[in-house]
Amino acid sequence: MPDSASNVTRPAHSSWFPRGLTLLQDPALNKGSAFTPRERDVLGLRGLLPPHVNSQAEQVARVLENFHRLPTTLEKYIFMTALHDRNEALFFRVVIENTDEMMPIIYTPTVGLGCQHFGHIYQRPRGVFVTAEDRGQIGSLLRNWPRQDVAMIVVTDGERILGLGDLGSNGMGIPVGKLALYTACAGVPPTQCLPVMLDVGTNNAALRDDPLYLGLAQPRLTGQAYDDLVDEFITAARELFPGVVIQFEDFANHNAFRLLEKYRNRICTFNDDIQGTAAVALAGLYSALRVTQGELAQQRLLFMGAGEAATGIADLAVAAMVADGVDAATARRCCWLFDSKGLVVAGRGELAAHKQPYAHEHAAIGDFGAAVRALRPTAIIGVAAVAGSFTQQIIEEMTRLNERPIVFALSNPTSKSECTAAQAYAWSGGRALFACGSPFDAVALGGQTFVPRQGNNSYIFPGVGLGAIAVRTRHVTDEMFMASARALARQVTPQDLAQGSLYPPLKNVREVSVQIAAAVAEVAFEQGLAGIERPGDLAAHMRRCMYEPTYPCYA
Ligand code: NAD
Repeated sequence: MPDSASNVTRPAHSSWFPRGLTLLQDPALNKGSAFTPRERDVLGLRGLLPPHVNSQAEQVARVLENFHRLPTTLEKYIFMTALHDRNEALFFRVVIENTDEMMPIIYTPTVGLGCQHFGHIYQRPRGVFVTAEDRGQIGSLLRNWPRQDVAMIVVTDGERILGLGDLGSNGMGIPVGKLALYTACAGVPPTQCLPVMLDVGTNNAALRDDPLYLGLAQPRLTGQAYDDLVDEFITAARELFPGVVIQFEDFANHNAFRLLEKYRNRICTFNDDIQGTAAVALAGLYSALRVTQGELAQQRLLFMGAGEAATGIADLAVAAMVADGVDAATARRCCWLFDSKGLVVAGRGELAAHKQPYAHEHAAIGDFGAAVRALRPTAIIGVAAVAGSFTQQIIEEMTRLNERPIVFALSNPTSKSECTAAQAYAWSGGRALFACGSPFDAVALGGQTFVPRQGNNSYIFPGVGLGAIAVRTRHVTDEMFMASARALARQVTPQDLAQGSLYPPLKNVREVSVQIAAAVAEVAFEQGLAGIERPGDLAAHMRRCMYEPTYPCYA
């Protein structure tokens, strides 16, 4: 990542530098009412702006005033999207200074709503749309992107957007939102970020019938044609942007696992739904174990769900136990999966490859509550997007079985949560060690205030991305995700734990990302994967690479 990534004074006098209205309409360069009198003279802006010059802080105050006037989260999302498209530095300043308030708007849960309404609220394009009809020309299409220094691509095919299913081309809101977090949470320069939608059609008939739907209104491409399209995209992206990290996002699990296996040792890639989720959940478990004084290998983890998130978490937990000296078979027996057909057990019939390692010998059980009673888990981890599936009875049973039951309701968006924070604390008499996928307010109970924090992969992926880019790693490995989980857990203070928080406050996320990026980089050097000479102080190197949303001086 070149240091020019951050904020340089740009040569305003050179012929390529935009002037006048063109400059005001370029979100990467625009300063709006903060252009100085001299810049206004030199850049042809005089008369095109109201005369008073604002500081960036004054502009932030204006943004917040307008933001707070808006009655719904969707309107806030539209407002922030418009700001992102108008003035990037101001957008990131607002997000960084108001992380707790802004993250649930620009990312989960509101981004889900933004995707559902994508065609209806659409104002300006962002990123690249590669469609099933672009076979053979993806390279030339990517060349239309105006920047050559792209270092981070987030790509989706929109088939499994959060817990909302197939949203087709509407899913573009996710790569856009995710990359905004790479920048806001870890300082990955926005100019180096490229959101990509692989629009292969949609099987969502309601969307195809919507006249305002902006994607290909045809059934999804499948089979070899699908694989060829993905492959052409990856080859073209790597040719144009050497060393680029390609993060797969919100692919349905029949493609997600396959694509990860196919590409993980060939290119620099990871799947955040599988690996990032795994690391954030493992960090939450490490925090919970500090309270219970338990060991990971002594836990029985029962997952509600057996998809990307569940098996990703189980695989990383097993890898972490193995790294602690436990044998793999014993480690796998600590993890149990429950899917739409019931408990995943040996002999249940044909099972997808990702579930097979966890199909233990056991009688079939069709009801999650019965599985809790039979298996006596120390932790239940909800990742099936089945709202309300952690019932009062189940939480009470967990509390009978455990002094401090671990309850992670990780499904997104909020409407899909397995239980709310208030329910988890109330039904366990305040004993649950709780983490959630969507944000919940603090809960007052029995004279104590519990502060639930999000087990959200946005703690992990920005730092992993920053670390990967900053040392130009050739691959992103499981060991890097294990290191990032440990680095995240180290940021949780005894004060956090005392109030029931298993994660650090989001407002610390940039420092958290620095520590994660340094941990990832350390592994890259240990594994011989880094593409630069090792800097003496990795954390300092990360901080130097980070984008700050301060306005450059153009004249
Ligand atoms: P997925 O589609 O890969 O898996 C969903 C799983 O749920 C499947 O195994 C399916 O069989 C199971 N399931 C469906 N209905 C069920 C039912 N009635 N009972 C039991 N199991 C059932 O999806 P995923 O990527 O694993 O994501 C699942 C959820 O986790 C989503 O809501 C997603 O937003 C959330 N998630 C949260 C985070 C986070 O950071 N908090 C990260 C990733 C995923």
